[in-house]
Amino acid sequence: MMRFRREPADVLDELAELRRRDAPTHGGRVLSYVYDSGVPELDELAADAARLVQPVNGLDPTTFGSVAAMEAGVVGFARRIFHGADAAPEPVVGSVTSGGTESCLLAVKTARDAWRSARAGTPRTPRIVAPVTVHAAFHKAAELLGVVLDLVPVEPTTGAPDVGDIESRLGDDVALVVVSAPSYPFATLDPVGDVAAITAPRGIALHVDACIGGFALAFWPDELPAWDFRVAGVTSLSADLHKYGYAPKGTSVLLTRGRDRQRHQYFATTAWPGYPVVNPTLAGSKPAGPLAAAWSIIEAIGVEGFTELTARAARATAALRTVVDGIEGLRVVGAPTGPLLAVAADEEVDAARRVDPHHWADAARRAGWQLQLQPGMVQPDGTLLPHTTHLTVTPVTESLLPDLTSALVAAADSVRGIPRVRGDELLDGLAAHLPAGAEGLAAASSSLDSDGAAALLRAFGLLGGGGDGGALPDQLAPVLTLVEALPGPLTERLLIELLARVVEPRDAPVGEEAEM
Ligand SMILES: *Cc1c(COP(=O)(O)O)cnc(C)c1O
Repeated sequence: MMRFRREPADVLDELAELRRRDAPTHGGRVLSYVYDSGVPELDELAADAARLVQPVNGLDPTTFGSVAAMEAGVVGFARRIFHGADAAPEPVVGSVTSGGTESCLLAVKTARDAWRSARAGTPRTPRIVAPVTVHAAFHKAAELLGVVLDLVPVEPTTGAPDVGDIESRLGDDVALVVVSAPSYPFATLDPVGDVAAITAPRGIALHVDACIGGFALAFWPDELPAWDFRVAGVTSLSADLHKYGYAPKGTSVLLTRGRDRQRHQYFATTAWPGYPVVNPTLAGSKPAGPLAAAWSIIEAIGVEGFTELTARAARATAALRTVVDGIEGLRVVGAPTGPLLAVAADEEVDAARRVDPHHWADAARRAGWQLQLQPGMVQPDGTLLPHTTHLTVTPVTESLLPDLTSALVAAADSVRGIPRVRGDELLDGLAAHLPAGAEGLAAASSSLDSDGAAALLRAFGLLGGGGDGGALPDQLAPVLTLVEALPGPLTERLLIELLARVVEPRDAPVGEEAEM
């Protein structure tokens, strides 16, 4: 018999206590990160399914046939709803990945390697062309995979790219064009068909990033222009099961048109003395739990269930659009498609009646509703994208509409006319507290070590004295202003420091504790 150091029940109690301090994952009060179907039986099913395969290693579907069967089931469902089931002459095939980022990384790897193999001996670095609204996962992919990300500005009021702009970037070094269905920041359904019309004749691959919206758009109640494999020039598509597939975190699908193209996604080697390695995804050993959860949800509710859940989210999104349209001083950005939207200040009304979307989000948060603040940015062509507040709407939102509506209206009323936090003033104020003043701030971007970064974070009030990250500050609006005002590399360095210190151990490591 193993003697436990602590009773398992006590350990679980402690975990439950930690969980109580988390943001609520259910109930619809957090409008980002979490996707609540509002159907508790689905969460139970997912948990039971994950537990059944807990010891399985997803690395090898020949040893664990359940993994092969579930993956075939999930990919089969996805390619049916995304209209790739009968694709001819090239079949649509796919993989289940650990999430949207991995699907996007693999889409870029596949395109890069297909591009390279068609141009054996070409030393040039390939390029990816995408609207600036493309998910940050593609920035990561470009950095990790050694390709250049060429960003095309979008129209600031609608968030949509101009197809002519995209066309002007195309050339022989372009390995992939990426569009979103819809984009995360503004919920824009990019013009997939029009972009395919300029990529396909040139033989350029086209990826549709439907990570956030795919499993909702496929069942969307309104008629939409074709955005999936119905468009012949679409060569790959990513869609996250851990978003509108209502599965626990760790599942997404990447579908690719053509077996030969898709094989570039794989890594295989026999050049070591261990087992032959062949991986379609980035991990080696990997869990089967998220796959099992996603598979069982699909099996249980099917097209009919997804259609019903999507209808709830769609009704809630339409209702919230009407609510925001009715709030003086705010506006919905562009023409959002799918269960998400972004809200900006309405510049057409008098400054005294305008509502700053970040003050609005902070006020809503004080009332118990977490909306997501998005910074503004200067595009490559110098035009400005507004700072906004993002709402991801889930099926459960519909049941909360009366409360949410009054909270959003009251939050706007409480901050109307309060001007946005000014970046220059914020920086002047901070520089005054720093030993090297404003110059020190500018120099810091390039030469900051960990302790220097932590000292700056403390000066900004974002880090506690003991080095711990602690809780979020009371108001996020100034933090987002800071993100916009500081040089990008400095902000990125500070964010790394903040996140690293949040998880740094504060006690002695478990193994070194006295009473074993
Ligand atoms: C969420 C998302 C991703 C990245 O997905 P993760 O699951 O967070 O890794 C990629 N693209 C879009 C449009 C997304 O919304």
